[in-house]
Amino acid sequence: MASIGHFISNQQVAGTSSLAKDVFNPSTGEISAQVALAGTQEVDQAVAAAKAAWPAWSKTPALRRVRILDKFKTILWDRLDELARVVSLEHGKTFDDAQGEVTRGLEVVEFATGMPHLLKGEFSENVGTGVDSHMVRQALGVVAGITPFNFPAMVPMWMFPVALATGNCFILKPSERDPSAPMLIAELLKEAGLPDGVFNVVNGDKVAVDALLEHPDVKAISFVGSTPIAQYIHQKGTANGKRVQALGGAKNHMVIMPDADLDMAANALMGAAYGSAGERCMAISVAVPVTDSVADALVEKLVPKIEALKVGPSLEQGMEMGPLVTGEHLAKVTSYIDKGVEEGAKLVVDGRTFKKPQGHEDGFFIGGSLFDHAEPDMTISKEEIFGPVLTMIRRNSYQDAVELIHGHQYANGVSIFTRDGDVARSFSEEIEVGMVGVNVPIPVPMAFYSFGGWKASLFGDHHMHGMEGVRFYTRMKTTTSRWPTGMRADAQFSMPTLG
Ligand code: NAD
Repeated sequence: MASIGHFISNQQVAGTSSLAKDVFNPSTGEISAQVALAGTQEVDQAVAAAKAAWPAWSKTPALRRVRILDKFKTILWDRLDELARVVSLEHGKTFDDAQGEVTRGLEVVEFATGMPHLLKGEFSENVGTGVDSHMVRQALGVVAGITPFNFPAMVPMWMFPVALATGNCFILKPSERDPSAPMLIAELLKEAGLPDGVFNVVNGDKVAVDALLEHPDVKAISFVGSTPIAQYIHQKGTANGKRVQALGGAKNHMVIMPDADLDMAANALMGAAYGSAGERCMAISVAVPVTDSVADALVEKLVPKIEALKVGPSLEQGMEMGPLVTGEHLAKVTSYIDKGVEEGAKLVVDGRTFKKPQGHEDGFFIGGSLFDHAEPDMTISKEEIFGPVLTMIRRNSYQDAVELIHGHQYANGVSIFTRDGDVARSFSEEIEVGMVGVNVPIPVPMAFYSFGGWKASLFGDHHMHGMEGVRFYTRMKTTTSRWPTGMRADAQFSMPTLG
């Protein structure tokens, strides 16, 4: 049985807390490894290593820092399939999907290699007579990232490339459900020449997270995960004087207008609702067709596609959907489907009846499900299911669709399918959601823009990566200087006005 420890000062270290958790291969249901759960002492060790590395790393010219990231990027391109395989094996997403995940993470590394330009400050000559001002962005120190199971490679890469390029040292606390990809990433960073202690991984659960939240030497926390935990991290982290960006859960709606290309919309819904078995924070989980005739036509198009979904072991070629991450999560998704039926939505396709592939009877598989005629106050409409379940809420007008979306607690992503530019533009302008797609089902911003939702989907002031990431991981310093010509002025006791 493989055992996964921590990665501190460029070394794999075994766990010392004697606590560990099973890691599964979701395609077989077998335990593939045990991951150590860090205690406070191991977190302290990682923070101490990062703190010791920080003075030299922060003073290393940004150009040299990003040359290491550039090397890491090349290694990552070369070993993309190896990392994707590790992701696919522990998460359960298909290999193609895992390749896409790694690529989206890599794009943030590409963005971060431009950091010398992005770190340029501001300078003003003669803000007062003979007085100049300049502003620089400086690194915070030791910063930490706490990440969810659903993107074990990409979400850490939303954070650390920007944090490292701006001169911070980083501690990653990955999800305990799929810790192998982050451990491989740590090895690749070492291979790229990253100095000891600059990037560390502590595996663990709430104990490790609390130790990071309470540690006085951790200056900032980036979190991605479910909303209750995001809220907790934000409250506790800020109460302890840290910067916090905490991204939470989601329930993303897709509005389908009567003039939309319905074949395009149906295909978009298939990928966005069932890709990665719905375990994406940007998955479309609610379809909002405007008018009954659009809804009827969509159901007719979707049903055969959902029934024909190729569901199987994550590494088997040609699969469109793998298993869910754990048996526990499978039980949770199943119970949401039970609840939807109980509350009166019409279950048009029932993924619970899916027959597991031969030889994989213990895998955490479920088929795709489709609910029609759901109402906004039903549990399946209100809560995040995080599985391959698409819920359809029929509306009669564009305005009703917008009101439905505005009534929801989450506001991560949203999409509209239409051929009408005026409707699309109004939607994009007025909708109160952080990331909007127009005829694009999963509008994940590119690395040079920033990722983040509104309302209960994000706590804090900064989105991730792009310029928001640079702002989050740096603090501004403004220097005002005067170089006298030799004559010393007398002391001044009134408020200086410089002019
Ligand atoms: P999760 O909240 O259970 O776990 C996220 C992280 O928090 C993990 O590292 C976990 O170890 C830690 N954690 C869990 N319970 C904790 C506790 N009580 N105290 C302190 N730390 C704790 O989330 P998950 O199930 O791993 O991931 C799925 C969730 O993440 C979904 O809600 C999804 O929408 C969300 N997500 C959001 C985004 C986004 O950008 N908004 C992106 C990806 C995933």
